[in-house]
Amino acid sequence: MSDSLSIQNLHASVDGTEILKGLTLEVPKGQVHAIMGPNGSGKSTLAKVLAGHEDYAVTAGSVTLDGADLLAMEIDERSRAGFFLAFQYPHEIPGVSNANFLRAARQARLPEGEEIDAVAFYREMYEKMDALEMDRKFTARSVNEGFSGGEKKRNEILQLMMLEPKYAVLDETDSGLDIDALKIVAKGVNAMRSPDRGFLVITHYQRLLDYIVPDVVHVMCDGRIVKTGDKDLALELEEKGYDWVREELAA
Ligand code: ADP
Ligand code: MG
Repeated sequence: MSDSLSIQNLHASVDGTEILKGLTLEVPKGQVHAIMGPNGSGKSTLAKVLAGHEDYAVTAGSVTLDGADLLAMEIDERSRAGFFLAFQYPHEIPGVSNANFLRAARQARLPEGEEIDAVAFYREMYEKMDALEMDRKFTARSVNEGFSGGEKKRNEILQLMMLEPKYAVLDETDSGLDIDALKIVAKGVNAMRSPDRGFLVITHYQRLLDYIVPDVVHVMCDGRIVKTGDKDLALELEEKGYDWVREELAA
């Protein structure tokens, strides 16, 4: 299928240790897939490999974005091709204001010679910040610098809303959020759901999936997808814990 983010038999290692051990997963456009899994199963490794993080070596397998070879692209090309990652631990970028960062990212998506319309850009950014209940003072502050955990997560979702990617991976966007912030973030994500966009929502806890209801739930263990089901699988995991999946695998 070409209208998808397609991951086939992906193997990746860090410092010579294999973390992803043949992971296969396909997110068609228009769907929200969730990955749940115990800590250390390789969820963030997957996210960072997709984004092109230099510490990780892909040793086998393929990833295509609407048929294009994602792994062959540089980091900025991946972004311009429509890939987006909201980090579990967002980076701070001292000296670069949030507004300038978003503006540069938007400018980079325009054809050569075309200039961003500053008035329309600010209007749109403020609207989206209002939706996320973010104070306007965050436009002038350096990206993520000194932000609380929850403010960083909201800022990741603001980037998502401004960049309008084709495929978005959210790595534990719920961690560090209280219930009110979680609801606001989920509302932002749900507003972005569209037939033209796919989501891969990584989470350790089922709670997020009460608010961002997934079409498909995958369970990841030890670098692979070991179980796939519908949203009820998340509830089952919450109830029975991850040991249940491990025991089932061992049997
Ligand atoms: P998860 O997000 O599911 O909790 P991670 O992908 O963060 O899992 O980690 C999977 C495994 O890979 C862990 O054992 C972790 O210690 C290891 N790992 C991840 N990144 C690195 C790194 N940069 N250097 C060494 N080990 C790493
Ligand atoms: Mg992680």
